[in-house]
Amino acid sequence: MTQPALDFIIAALKKIRESTNHPPRASKTLLAQFQHAPFVAASLREARPSPARQQLQSAPNKAELLEPVRERVRVCTKCAHLACSRTQTVFGVGNPDADLMFIGEAPGVDEDQQGEPFVGRAGQLLTKILKAMNFAREDVYIANILKCRPDTPSGTFGNRAPTPTEMQTCRPYLVEQIEIIQPKVLVALGAVAVEGLLGMRGTMRELRGRWHAYSGIPLMITYHPAYLLRNQAPSEKRKVWEDMLQVLERLDKPITERQRNYFL
Ligand code: SF4
Repeated sequence: MTQPALDFIIAALKKIRESTNHPPRASKTLLAQFQHAPFVAASLREARPSPARQQLQSAPNKAELLEPVRERVRVCTKCAHLACSRTQTVFGVGNPDADLMFIGEAPGVDEDQQGEPFVGRAGQLLTKILKAMNFAREDVYIANILKCRPDTPSGTFGNRAPTPTEMQTCRPYLVEQIEIIQPKVLVALGAVAVEGLLGMRGTMRELRGRWHAYSGIPLMITYHPAYLLRNQAPSEKRKVWEDMLQVLERLDKPITERQRNYFL
């Protein structure tokens, strides 16, 4: 919502309050959304002091708003083959109030077992990258396009990439997560995550290292940590770190000389 539109709504609320004995009303959901825009919340308090304030205070926070989505995911059977093969769904982890959100492609075997994204070797590398950025895993939010592990033929090892259909089917859950969390910056890890999020195919060479946008939120695209495990060349690691330096700058985080010179 643009500032002029908000100004118009706030002016209308004030006018209603001044001209009637029936103060303006709003649903809990609307108030919860307004709560995430501080200047709107302040104006609402001004327009209708105590009852609105009480409603705002009792409105669900982001963690509470995520819970019903998590529950729908937990019992989801939209992809019957994945609902049969998964150990459990992998919803997402981290701080629902995070400024920074990472998006991967799908749970692997470790994530399927533990119910948490990015806990295998690639996840450990992501945690290391976060640490170098001065973040703990608990400071950011991490989720995948797909909430179920893509099935693989029995007796085979490794993970497979999700299909476009699977990603399209599961994407609405991620969209809800992003809408609730409203991070300041998104990071898509790998070309599959980009395809799932933006519906856009491209090589990482074309996509990474520059700003894109998803629903008005700045989006940095970089290599998936699994790629760095397969390709240990310092030049590739440095590319990811340079992308993360751009993310820190976008978040207005101080960057030390040591961080500037850091190699993953
Ligand atoms: S991948 Fe997503 S849409 Fe498909 S069954 Fe799992 S949770 Fe549901």
